[in-house]
Amino acid sequence: MVQVKDIINFLETLAPLHLQESYDNSGWVVGDPEQVCNGVLTALDLTLEVMDEAIEKNLNLIVVHHPPIFKGLKQILPTNPVARMLTKAIKSDLCVYAIHTNLDNVLWGVNGEIANRIGLKNTRVLSPLSDTHQKLVTFVPLTHAEMVRESLFQAGAGAIGNYRECSFNTSGMGTFKALENANPFVGEKYQQHKEEEIRIEVILPKQLQPLILTALHNSHPYETVAYDIFPLNNKFDELGAGAIGEFPAPIDEKELLLLLKTTFKTGVIKHSPYTAKKIKTVALCGGSGKSLIINALRNKVDAYVTADLGYHDFFEADGKLLLADIGHFESEQYTSELLEKAIIEKFPTFAVQKTGKNTNPVNYFL
Ligand SMILES: [Zn+2]
Repeated sequence: MVQVKDIINFLETLAPLHLQESYDNSGWVVGDPEQVCNGVLTALDLTLEVMDEAIEKNLNLIVVHHPPIFKGLKQILPTNPVARMLTKAIKSDLCVYAIHTNLDNVLWGVNGEIANRIGLKNTRVLSPLSDTHQKLVTFVPLTHAEMVRESLFQAGAGAIGNYRECSFNTSGMGTFKALENANPFVGEKYQQHKEEEIRIEVILPKQLQPLILTALHNSHPYETVAYDIFPLNNKFDELGAGAIGEFPAPIDEKELLLLLKTTFKTGVIKHSPYTAKKIKTVALCGGSGKSLIINALRNKVDAYVTADLGYHDFFEADGKLLLADIGHFESEQYTSELLEKAIIEKFPTFAVQKTGKNTNPVNYFL
């Protein structure tokens, strides 16, 4: 029996809630986490049609990218379209969960998917977050250092970029005196004991801290484990907004626009003046990404692909790069498929589907 919370807990290991932006409202929207989950429908937006589809297919959890409640909602009245949807969800016993900027801020999420779809290589984050990692330092008797280190690695510590099992180890002398109620692994009570120990240092992603500390306590032989956790100011390539990558071979600007138009089935692409340069390095950000134009310029990319650009934003290209606005829905449309695939991989025998409804509220008159 799968409960709704089992699916959500899994999604939060992929895109932890603390990675959402301060203005966001990712997470639970409506429903009972303890409810038995009949199946999952994934969609970019919550609409009445998407809810009808879920009810028809007997899928009682809807995972959406855009949080339906984004601004303060002070009344639940049928005159308000959001309130109408929430009322319907509650009456129909549906659970709704939003995975928004926390999914934008992990590289495998919205932006990694866009990069894959257009064939970029060597993809990394365009605007890395800070304050995402910590350093764990612990002191282990020589005899058990290998075991503790291994179990920290197994729990996810020591991962830096394309390297795993990174640690620094120094040997030294630890001292301790066990008091009355202690049950020391080595040494006698009331006597200072000296033990040859290894100081193990590893970095860890903040969200894995509980798991890693459990691994430390389970593998460390001492009754009371000595350890320190330090905040780190480093920025890491895997967490943050937008993505940047390279094409295997440079292409023409018009070729890029054609590739975007076909890949994202966009009605029209708005773009800044051609720069007459070949396109090799591309930055991108699904959805409203105007705030990252500055990061794209700093990284000296040949093109920046995003959506929701205004008239004045196009001037920022300044002849240095090609700015392309491919549409908000268009840029993020594959997110429902990405979520569908991720949940199926974890729950292979479970009913999971992406919506068959087009929720794009923007239409093109051609
Ligand atoms: Zn969006």
